[in-house]
Amino acid sequence: MLKIRAGRLSPAAMDALAEYQRDVDAQDTYRERVSRAKTRFSRYNRKTNATFAAVRAKLAEMCGGTRRCMYCEDSVADEVEHFRPKDLYPDVVFAWRNYLYACGPCNGGKNNRFSVVEAGTGELVDVTRRRGARVTPPREGAAALIDPRRENPLDFIILDLQDTFEFTPLADAGTVEFRRADYTIEVLRLNERDYVREARKNAMVSYEARLARYVELRNGDALEHDVVQVKRCIQRSPHPTVWAEMKRQHARLGSLATLFRAAPEALDF
Ligand SMILES: [Zn+2]
Repeated sequence: MLKIRAGRLSPAAMDALAEYQRDVDAQDTYRERVSRAKTRFSRYNRKTNATFAAVRAKLAEMCGGTRRCMYCEDSVADEVEHFRPKDLYPDVVFAWRNYLYACGPCNGGKNNRFSVVEAGTGELVDVTRRRGARVTPPREGAAALIDPRRENPLDFIILDLQDTFEFTPLADAGTVEFRRADYTIEVLRLNERDYVREARKNAMVSYEARLARYVELRNGDALEHDVVQVKRCIQRSPHPTVWAEMKRQHARLGSLATLFRAAPEALDF
């Protein structure tokens, strides 16, 4: 999970989203706004809707070359995901800044779960609305979940590249940063899916092989074109977080330290 470089949506699409949002906001009560947000989002979030076609195209661009999910990076991103769930926050159901592109397993798993950080104590408060509960506005507060459009997840979590290929919080236990990291790992099930951990491990083997190839070509008499090709391949491979972590942790990982010493410029790939 990496920080997403936000793209700009066309003015026409931004205007259309604002129009959709005004309609939701115009409902009298919070309960009506929640209901309207759901029905209107289902109505507009279709391939035949030009605004959502533009939204999806821009989100796909933001995912990078292989259009992987912004959370797990493993499966194809094909669902417009609300960072703040529309069931709780109808006021941002059509807000461009609230959109991510996610895969079904991530989007479905997260669903309407959401927690906020309680001001003052720094404790996380679960504001998920239980089935059958009264539809009232959630407690106010900053998001507990790490938002990859605004924050760099790697400031909060670190990937174990030597053994488990699981994420753990970077900060000390007891801190708000730790709680937020822990919550994010749990809600997005970043460690639970064994096939994702396996894919991270494979990605590392593949990145390492490509980096070795890059060093070999660059130090030999290969054509510039071939060197650039290997570099591009590294930059466009799935699981870019694995690559980011390889750069961050290389100094304490023997064979990687040697490779990056041979090609320090690869730290900027
Ligand atoms: Zn995913």
